[in-house]
Amino acid sequence: MADSSADTAAPIIPDDFLAILRCVNYDHPRDDGVLRIEGAMLRCAVCGYRYEVDDGIPNMLWDDAIPPDASAAAS
Ligand SMILES: [Zn+2]
Repeated sequence: MADSSADTAAPIIPDDFLAILRCVNYDHPRDDGVLRIEGAMLRCAVCGYRYEVDDGIPNMLWDDAIPPDASAAAS
């Protein structure tokens, strides 16, 4: 509810939405799969799988998740 005084760009998805999303990887408990914004994607803090976000709608389909060993620049 605060004024938008932040000088950063709006997040790709709202914080309250992000807070309820969880990674769908069955290899770890779902509740552990907290997602964090990484660039234009969401990244699971546990398994590192990434999910694309399109117009504020995260694609949480496991078939579309990007594995952490995909050819991407390591951070
Ligand atoms: Zn995960």
